[in-house]
Amino acid sequence: MSSAVEQIKARLSIIDVVGSYIKLDKAGTNYKAKCPFHNEKTPSFYVSPGRESYHCFGCDKGGDIFSFVEELEGVDFIGALKILAEKAGVKLENEDKYEKSEKGRTSVLLTSAIEFYRRELVKNTNALNYLKGRGLKGETVTKFKIGYAPDDWRAVGNYLKKQGFSDDEIEKAGLSIKSPSGSYDRFRGRIMFPVYNISGSPIGFSGRIFEPKITEGKQEPAKYINTPQTVVYDKSRALFGIDKAKVEMRKKNECILVEGQFDLIMAHQAGTENTVAVSGTALTEDHLMMINRLAEKLTMAFDGDSAGLKASARAIGLALSLEMDVRLVSMGNAKDPADVIKDRPEDWLNAVENSKHIVDFFLDSLTSHNLTKDVFSKQVKKQVLPYVKSIKSRIEQAKFVNKISELLKVTEGAVWEDLKETVPAFVENNGVAVGKEIKQRSPNENTKEFNLKKMVWSFLEWQKDISIQTSDQNKKNALGDKEQRFRELIKDGEYEKIDRFLSPKRNQLILEVEIPFSGATNLEKEIDSALDSLEEEILKNEVGTEWLKIKEAEKNGNAEKVAIHMTNFQKMSKRLDEFKKRSA
Ligand SMILES: [Zn+2]
Repeated sequence: MSSAVEQIKARLSIIDVVGSYIKLDKAGTNYKAKCPFHNEKTPSFYVSPGRESYHCFGCDKGGDIFSFVEELEGVDFIGALKILAEKAGVKLENEDKYEKSEKGRTSVLLTSAIEFYRRELVKNTNALNYLKGRGLKGETVTKFKIGYAPDDWRAVGNYLKKQGFSDDEIEKAGLSIKSPSGSYDRFRGRIMFPVYNISGSPIGFSGRIFEPKITEGKQEPAKYINTPQTVVYDKSRALFGIDKAKVEMRKKNECILVEGQFDLIMAHQAGTENTVAVSGTALTEDHLMMINRLAEKLTMAFDGDSAGLKASARAIGLALSLEMDVRLVSMGNAKDPADVIKDRPEDWLNAVENSKHIVDFFLDSLTSHNLTKDVFSKQVKKQVLPYVKSIKSRIEQAKFVNKISELLKVTEGAVWEDLKETVPAFVENNGVAVGKEIKQRSPNENTKEFNLKKMVWSFLEWQKDISIQTSDQNKKNALGDKEQRFRELIKDGEYEKIDRFLSPKRNQLILEVEIPFSGATNLEKEIDSALDSLEEEILKNEVGTEWLKIKEAEKNGNAEKVAIHMTNFQKMSKRLDEFKKRSA
């Protein structure tokens, strides 16, 4: 552990940190609150100042101040470290190093460019009037730091060179293009929208064409151009507005997704500040995972026939498979949200409010097209079933199967049959499912056996803490016996493995048993019963293996082995019967 982490932990209590985000109520020695990570009516989120930990009994999230900030702000560990270091007034050693690194230099360069473009916008009345005409208020232009790139070959390039940046640095930041006769500005005669990462550092620009006089060759210039791939900009990960939307997304548990820069900015201006935009690319799996960390509901205000929506199919399928509620906003004849918001902001708010589940949206849209039964049925199979197949919940799937069977006038059984052969939307053409690494957390961590081991281990660690304070030798012996039984149950060497694995989360794990069991009248009995459950579970898992071994030995004609495994099998079955009788 670096000393910065220790310094931060010494200066900030978990109550200060968590309390700065949500309201905490005292509950004994701990505090409780409504969980900020899932929706609930009665609080099941606990914070323990003694253990410097939090745990939610509703959604099972827990950890320390760092994981709390990571989870709530949607940043990685380094991001949380920066936020907490600032709160604690701790200087990070690597900060100077970061500023000198390529990423750090690029970020400083981009900040400089943003200021340059902003000053240019103020000078350009036409551009200002254009923004006003699109409905943007002055404060919105300031909030999003919108600027203007002059219609000139070397405006920003020359400015940045005067600021001490080299041609090479300017080019690598994506602001200029090298040519045999020297570098020239990439963005010329364009309204400039700066793009930030989730932590609020600038990573690039999206530039919209505006009165260009100089164009290369005879080609019509693109309406929008974006920063190319750089050390800080990756288009498959850039989500416009995420830095400004993240807190609202978390609060509302909803992310509104739009396709364009103006849509994004106008949506924020209209009060829907949980809006982000993909621009110049489809929604990718990386985008989706970023959204998923902050909100469970994804409301897409995309044009229903747009290429963007089709290209986002895989990410949408992934969202459905992660049990997200994916909805589409229908805006009638208006093609984009920016225009609706400009003239009738309340229509926008209503449209968002009345969004439809993506499956309903497609079914309703197909129904409205008056297709022949044959075409309709084909379209449902091609467009709609891959989404239905992606949905994780069978109950929700059944709801749509029922609706489809009614629309197609076929039996539900026939729809289920079709669904069997349907490839889910999140599977690529080559058959590879996306987002696999995300869903496949270490599998044995989710078994009942592992959870029981974790519980007993946490119990014992908790009691060890308490027994240090007591001089009662009987209690100490009893605890020793229980630990001995635990070690015997989980077999040689595994205790050390589990101990090593669980120790880093010791405080949080103790909290998980301390809160529900601290009021128990007979704690020793509780521990014994947890040990019994663990023994029963281990036996259940092993008795099957023993049975297979008998079968194999029989097949090989090895009578000796059959006898050994048979004895084991009978012993295990007898012990299992005892447990069954006890709980009956
Ligand atoms: Zn929770």
